[in-house]
Amino acid sequence: MPKVTFLGAAGTVTGSKYLVEAEGKRLLVDCGLFQGLKELRLRNWNPLPEKPASFDWCVLTHAHLDHTGYLPRLVRDGFHGPIYADAATIELCNILLPDSAHLQEEDAARAARHKYSKHKTPLPLYSREDVAPVLKALSEIPRSAPFTISPQFTVRPHDAGHILGSASLELTITENGKKVVVLFSGDIGRYDQPILKNPEPPPACDVLLCESTYGDREHPAASAEDALAEVVNRVVKRGGQIVIPAFAVGRTQTIMYIIRKLEDANRIPHLPVYVDSPMAISVTDLYLRHHEDHDLAYTADEKNGNPLDAYTVHYMRTVDDSKKINDVRSPAIIISASGMATGGRVLHHLARLAPDRKNAILLVGFQAEGTRGRALEEGAKILRIHGEDVPVGAEVVNLRQFSAHAGKSELLRWLGGIPSPPRQTYLTHGEPQASAALKAAIETQFHWPVALPQYLQTVDLSAPK
Ligand SMILES: [Zn+2]
Repeated sequence: MPKVTFLGAAGTVTGSKYLVEAEGKRLLVDCGLFQGLKELRLRNWNPLPEKPASFDWCVLTHAHLDHTGYLPRLVRDGFHGPIYADAATIELCNILLPDSAHLQEEDAARAARHKYSKHKTPLPLYSREDVAPVLKALSEIPRSAPFTISPQFTVRPHDAGHILGSASLELTITENGKKVVVLFSGDIGRYDQPILKNPEPPPACDVLLCESTYGDREHPAASAEDALAEVVNRVVKRGGQIVIPAFAVGRTQTIMYIIRKLEDANRIPHLPVYVDSPMAISVTDLYLRHHEDHDLAYTADEKNGNPLDAYTVHYMRTVDDSKKINDVRSPAIIISASGMATGGRVLHHLARLAPDRKNAILLVGFQAEGTRGRALEEGAKILRIHGEDVPVGAEVVNLRQFSAHAGKSELLRWLGGIPSPPRQTYLTHGEPQASAALKAAIETQFHWPVALPQYLQTVDLSAPK
């Protein structure tokens, strides 16, 4: 019987990894890092319950690290099959995975220097050398047509509208002549958002694995443009600076697009915008090039030049460039990774700018439990950064409008587009209260059987006799 084992994103939003088995063959869908709470991050260090060498193939829904960031470890631990993904996802992985390794190495080195690790010589989870074989193993599949992996598995991506290249994967499993269709939602994006298309309606399936990140919450109805204009003008008035922890992929481009729109409409002053992330130029370039994912409004904007550049934008590539931002005294916007303030250059800006009440910290994406971003969201007055306590005096603003994830009613809208009810639905990629709330909503609205899988649980995918 075909089956799936939840190796991650069960009861939590990170570590997406689903092991599908049929006729003795093994396909891993996504290979994400656990992030956030320490007890979750420690799972990255435990060997998988099944040997990676026994997996035949891997296929990716999108490039975010909570869906791909474990690949270097998987390959180092023995996986040697192809890793299938669409063209944009492969290009993004070529940028994100080396950066992830770099951050792991930096964290280990800093922990060693400041002696805030229990270990005598803290090691990174993986290094940059571990990434090269992963990049070699990436193999392109079509953006939206069926692709046969083996006699057991055929996969068809559907645009999920979440980040460039993001897809829901329709997996047709054939075992002993019988077919089962399993749909992996991946991360579902937003409707009517800048740059990317709306999520495609899901195809019919027997079994559905659906994310539930915002299963218990709606995004604010106010527009992202209005919300950003308000904060920018308020902070400029008091002479402060704005720091935005943002992932290089997606959020940075959306923020730049909206800043540009607000500048064009003279709704905010033309401030210097510092994009302090060596990845941002390359990722923005990918966003410009992959027309297949663009919506119509963006395509129209392109006629008036690059819609992803503010008037006065500075891309800070090197560490020395980054340090120059320390000398800026006038109002400015600093966009820097990581998006949950778990690492990266944004920590230096937070350490410098968080104490002053004039400044503002803008949160623009999901903040997982255990991250500094979540602590800020919950009103923390002290942030622990590089082994020191930093007081938080700055205004903290959570702009949920910028989320790349569908809110509760958007998830229900997406689910409602399915042509026929799935026989079984499993909710993944959500904190327990979010998954539980979405489960209740699906049961009330659609009357489908819904289950919340446990970490490492295996379930039978075949139809009941
Ligand atoms: Zn994602």
